[in-house]
Amino acid sequence: MVKNSISFTNQEKDIAQKIKRLKEKAGSHSPSIYTIAEFVPQLNITVDACFLSNPYATDLFFHYFTEELIESGKIKEVLEYYPSQNQTIAGVLSKHLNVSPKNIFVGNGTTEIIQAVIHNFTAEKIVVNIPTFSPYYEFVKEGIEIVYNKLDKQDNFVLNLEDYIQLIKKTKPDTIVLINPNNPDGGYINLERMEYFVSELSWVKNVIVDESFIHFAYEDVEYNLRTLIKISQKFSNLVLVKSMSKDFGIAGIRAGYAIMNEHKVNRLLKQGYLWNLSGLAEYFFRLYVRKDFLRAYEKVRIPYIQASQQFFAKLAGIKGLKVYPSMANFVLVELNNGATSTDLTAKLLLKYGIYIRNCADKIGLDGQFVRIASRTTEQNQFVMDCITDLFRDV
Ligand SMILES: *Cc1c(COP(=O)(O)O)cnc(C)c1O
Repeated sequence: MVKNSISFTNQEKDIAQKIKRLKEKAGSHSPSIYTIAEFVPQLNITVDACFLSNPYATDLFFHYFTEELIESGKIKEVLEYYPSQNQTIAGVLSKHLNVSPKNIFVGNGTTEIIQAVIHNFTAEKIVVNIPTFSPYYEFVKEGIEIVYNKLDKQDNFVLNLEDYIQLIKKTKPDTIVLINPNNPDGGYINLERMEYFVSELSWVKNVIVDESFIHFAYEDVEYNLRTLIKISQKFSNLVLVKSMSKDFGIAGIRAGYAIMNEHKVNRLLKQGYLWNLSGLAEYFFRLYVRKDFLRAYEKVRIPYIQASQQFFAKLAGIKGLKVYPSMANFVLVELNNGATSTDLTAKLLLKYGIYIRNCADKIGLDGQFVRIASRTTEQNQFVMDCITDLFRDV
């Protein structure tokens, strides 16, 4: 192994310390670029490759938003009046998803739904894969057992479904979680296998499947969407979770939904969640079900997937990096050249203004890992060039 280390000037060291403290304060999530810019004004952040969204989808939404709300002046009504209630917005989604509104619960971001589901329905034991999206274990109440299924580096973090099913049968949890494609590695399980998985677990009270990145995954040359929505009605224990933040590029609006059985929806609604979506999130959901929007969305979804996969393949060509296979819009990258993830993250930020996710805090990841999101084609190229440049220098 070549021993590499990234060197810092004294001034860079000071700033790197500041960034480190911000990260510590943010816990298991990353400080946003706004927070970083506020506390470390010397930085000039040009690419946010930490945040996992499709920037072209943001542009598309912004186009509609500008034309239909801003230029028309309708934004005033959105701000002045109450939005629709939870079940009304569920009704808007119902036709598009072909699922009864009684089975749909909308959330102020999916994080709110994950919290509500775990707090209300997980009473004994939860099984999660690690590495994972941290709320799935962080929101678990005290006294409830968490069983971790550690995905193995040797297996490229590929989830072995049979082993997972065996672990679930052995530990008898009331809740299990599977994120598909998974965050932070982008590992994907095809639809047929997912259907098999769900059908094997009909005795588990809550089977949470998180499809927040599913719009980036594909199994055929046409990039058709592969989701469990169609079979969701067959399994009353399935909680199918979907964030709109990443693939539609609208994390700031806070919009997500979940499909689950009617009793669960009712139990959550009894606790409130009456106007938990904002007027902007309602506008988004009303747009999301429109044919013209969806047609335009496909035109920003498919080329973005293609560009992302090309970017990942190029990254894999840089010596010293191991890029894990991903069906999402980000890749998990292991540094095999002696550099640490903390140094790489700080240096990219200081020298080039590129912000990537340092995975040092992710449980289940032993080694030096970063997660790099795909942004615009130009930005991806810039990230490529800078990392190449950096590892040439050290
Ligand atoms: C980001 C993320 C979410 C939550 O997103 P919201 O912005 O709260 O909708 C849920 N699940 C996974 C796997 C995620 O990465």
